[in-house]
Amino acid sequence: MFAEEEYVQLAALQHFVFCPRQCALIHTERVWAENAQTVLGKLEHGRVDAAKSESRGCVYTARSVSLISHQLGIKGVSDVVEYRQTPDGELVYPVEYKHGRPKKHLADAVQLCAQALCLEEMHQCHIPEGYLFYQTLRRRYPVVFDEELRRETRITIKATREMLLGGNLPQAVKRKECTSCSLLNLCLPLPAAQPISEYNDRRFNAIVSES
Ligand code: SF4
Repeated sequence: MFAEEEYVQLAALQHFVFCPRQCALIHTERVWAENAQTVLGKLEHGRVDAAKSESRGCVYTARSVSLISHQLGIKGVSDVVEYRQTPDGELVYPVEYKHGRPKKHLADAVQLCAQALCLEEMHQCHIPEGYLFYQTLRRRYPVVFDEELRRETRITIKATREMLLGGNLPQAVKRKECTSCSLLNLCLPLPAAQPISEYNDRRFNAIVSES
């Protein structure tokens, strides 16, 4: 069992896979900044959250569902959980709405898999797959919760908890994800080979120009 402060937010897992430093900045340092992508994403999420839960035929669509796993020490909110009645019983699967289009990294899939692990514990069921709905394409893509993704998700949960509880802030090293990161101007990442003194000079200049 986990103490209250040891529970990891589902959104933090997505941030950690995207970039551990971004995760620490948001969840430990409480730093946030918007860019065009995050603003669009918020507007799109607002529309999803405003819709009501509903039943259509054999499917009940629940929205903004609170999730928790006491075994894994994670909690958060799922955009949508669908409950489908079939001749073989009820199928449960999470659906997460995302801005943009499918990405090469596993950040969205790990977050969705963590939602499924919560639902499996809450409903004592097995969930073989879920869906990521990409707003730009207006399409949803199935994500299979195979053993590999489940293992990756458990490893991510453990690593995220250790980093956040330890208060660790990974170094600001430039990576390909930086171009789409809304924290770019606050983080000021450097190419790996550049000395830390150069980073401090740039950080100082940025603070001075903001004040
Ligand atoms: S700018 Fe780059 S290194 Fe900094 S938080 Fe964003 S993705 Fe991570």
